[in-house]
Amino acid sequence: MAGISRPRGTDDLLPERLQAMEHARQLGTAIAASYGYRPLETPIFEATELFVRGVGDTTDVVTREMYTFEDRAGRSLTLRPEGTAPVVRAFWESDLRQAPLPARLSYWGPMFRYDRPGRGRYRQFHQFGVEVLGESEPELDAEVIAVAWRWLLELGLGGTSLQLNSIGDATCRPQFREALLDHFGPHLAQLPDLDRERLRRNPLRILDSKDPDVAGLLEAAPKTTDFLCDGCHEAFLRVQEALVAYGIHFQLNPLLVRGLDYYQRTAFEVWHEDLHGAQNSLFGGGRYDGLSEELGYPHCPGVGFAAGLERVTMLAPPPGPAPLPLVWALAAQPEAAATVIRLSEQLRGAGLAAVVDAGRRSLKAKMRSAERGGASLVCIVGAEELSQGLVTIRLLGDGSQVSEPLRTAVDRARALLFQSS
Ligand code: AMP
Repeated sequence: MAGISRPRGTDDLLPERLQAMEHARQLGTAIAASYGYRPLETPIFEATELFVRGVGDTTDVVTREMYTFEDRAGRSLTLRPEGTAPVVRAFWESDLRQAPLPARLSYWGPMFRYDRPGRGRYRQFHQFGVEVLGESEPELDAEVIAVAWRWLLELGLGGTSLQLNSIGDATCRPQFREALLDHFGPHLAQLPDLDRERLRRNPLRILDSKDPDVAGLLEAAPKTTDFLCDGCHEAFLRVQEALVAYGIHFQLNPLLVRGLDYYQRTAFEVWHEDLHGAQNSLFGGGRYDGLSEELGYPHCPGVGFAAGLERVTMLAPPPGPAPLPLVWALAAQPEAAATVIRLSEQLRGAGLAAVVDAGRRSLKAKMRSAERGGASLVCIVGAEELSQGLVTIRLLGDGSQVSEPLRTAVDRARALLFQSS
């Protein structure tokens, strides 16, 4: 159809999708709260420096995908591509850091990335996530995973697997990096351009390669876990022991890496069997003990996860219908318009959802709309009812009908709905 269409990579959240996303978000927030996480929201745009830091992978991937613009005062601002750096900034700029640590926080909101649009891949999408700041105990890594896992269970989302790895820290990662270079170095000519570039800029990222020509080399590549120093090794064992205590199955996946240096130790993803290729991840998370310093703040360890709500709701069974029974208040004649409007307000005040039709269409047309619109019950006021101070109440389920004084119509409607449900 001609006209202005929505920007590429964006989607309109139509009522069903929006209901599913709100359900998922509210459930996530409530489950996180049951583990002691408090929700916060940060601005949708931030100073660009919050996301562009240092060199290497940052400039390579993040910058290319960012929506960056100058405001009228010439400041460089960026629509947030992710939620962790803003949460760390908010932590330092508020009194959250004075509260007992660790701070347990949850967030949700739209994120923006200039990605190539595809199934489950948008330029504006929504993430729900949690972060734990101020402590580096490995049991916290497992706790964050437990929040994610319980959320999945309560959403009724099966077909998932938890992929777990440790990518070491500044002590042991340099040896691993060297080992990767030694392994792939003699095969440079056979690598596709993208992977050769990864090896040059950030060797760990080559483990992300999905190129079939590289699969054999990847299989034989050194494993992060063979290079862990004592501290990282012990922490990794503690994460696994705690996951067992939570009753959560995991799959060790030595190819799972995070490109950025501030990520340390635990890296995890939740995969779904219906998501393939580079887009198979439902959730991503890990420990980022180096991030706070990279943002110019004091050292502050952290761990968290983020999940894409579009992907989660695409795969989870749809939530049940809206919990409120729906009443339609219909004017059968024009002179009843004000009465049905007042009645609809009283119905809402009594905790029911009410749609009012005070217009001039025929009662028959209005009844048809009410039936199609999912009404459980209709309240009809016409000239005759008006003169006697009555309302006709009809239950759509069995077609039964009563005449009720206007004064008590709301109570009667509630009673009838209650009986019939
Ligand atoms: P990341 O922040 O890249 O670790 O991504 C975390 C989660 O956000 C992923 O597992 C996806 O569920 C979701 N996600 C990331 N990028 C997109 C996108 N372009 N469109 C929709 N969801 C996304």
